[in-house]
Amino acid sequence: MKTRTIAILGATGSIGTQALDIVRRYPEQFRADCLTAHGSAEKLFELCREFRPRFAALVNEPREIPGDLRGIEWFFGADSTVRALLAARCQDALCAIVGIAGLDAVWHALDVCERVLLANKEALVTGGDLVMKKAANLGKPMLPVDSEHSAIFQCLQARQGNPLKRLLLTCSGGALRNWKKADMYAATVRDVLAHPTWNMGGKITVDCATMVNKGLEVIEAHHLFAMPAEKIDVVIHPQSVIHSMIEFEDGTVLAQLGMPDMRGPIGYAMGFPNRLPYDAKPLDFAALGHLDFAAPDHDRFPCLGMAIRALKAGGSAPVVLNGANEVAVGAFLKEHIPFGRIAEVIDRTLQSVPVSPIASIADVYEADSQARAFAAESIKF
Ligand code: NDP
Ligand code: MG
Repeated sequence: MKTRTIAILGATGSIGTQALDIVRRYPEQFRADCLTAHGSAEKLFELCREFRPRFAALVNEPREIPGDLRGIEWFFGADSTVRALLAARCQDALCAIVGIAGLDAVWHALDVCERVLLANKEALVTGGDLVMKKAANLGKPMLPVDSEHSAIFQCLQARQGNPLKRLLLTCSGGALRNWKKADMYAATVRDVLAHPTWNMGGKITVDCATMVNKGLEVIEAHHLFAMPAEKIDVVIHPQSVIHSMIEFEDGTVLAQLGMPDMRGPIGYAMGFPNRLPYDAKPLDFAALGHLDFAAPDHDRFPCLGMAIRALKAGGSAPVVLNGANEVAVGAFLKEHIPFGRIAEVIDRTLQSVPVSPIASIADVYEADSQARAFAAESIKF
């Protein structure tokens, strides 16, 4: 089998390290030729020692590069990820940076890579129309890594050209799924980071607790699968065993199931169309006994509805939602605001920053900085 080169952008994160676990398992299939991170220098050095990429990038320049890693071509600074990506010209790019910070990388990965493996959902939430258009024009596949979108993508392999009635995104409900509304406002960082089924980076774990994550995923699904918001439904499924579903016009529903382990969807994107076995825990239906489902509770989780309304509003509204959320989640993780303020900050920002058309990536950044400025200001009060 021929070895594929892969750039792992956000290599030190939850998705990045799990992707490297697959590279470690299949050294004859993958060569991680470009590894990037933001500030986790020591962690990146360790990964570089093991995987020996030709290119590496750190946004925050470290005091010095260890002697044994000086053979690697290093890039530093705000645009270091993109410069390393463009220099490496890998066949695949796994975009696993968190937040809109990953948008530029996704945009440029489409220019130089054969395939983009997308974990960075915020890139589609903010630049979805532009990114998908560019991917289509260049004929480059965007392979989803987010578990729900991977599930839908896997189900779609059986579509045979038939029209879809709707997509059903499943949702664990996050760490506060059983909390009373009155208690949720003051939930601590510790409460919120205790996700019941998935082990992920900090930002997305908070997003799951507010359920804005599911809203971001509705927007992501809209772009990836060209489905209108009205045809994307969310169903609460606490066991996270059904990763998502598609429904056809004849009422048939196809689902993709598995134990919650991100190496499943990451490996599916990396190996596509081949499946790469890993030490997955098998599904034991008898031990599970039952699978539960419920409708989302919009009263306790207002951010889900805000995201869906932003998608329907169009233009810059999803960018504004995302920017406000990134600011509010950052403030919550630093314990500057209580959990309940996250939804308030997003809501106020969406109501105050006017919706504008998005015709270019520059428009995306303009709307993002307006939203961030408003959200940062509203956090002070
Ligand atoms: P993490 O916070 O664990 O990792 C983020 C990675 O991006 C790190 O390598 C980090 O470097 C790097 N990074 C952060 N900020 C910047 C920046 N400004 N410029 C360049 N690099 C940066 O996040 P996750 O792995 O959890 O999530 C990554 C993406 O995947 C998110 O969009 C998330 O929504 C999505 N996703 C994640 C899932 C999961 O299971 N974790 C599941 C589905 C989707 P450093 O370590 O140096 O800070
Ligand atoms: Mg997901």
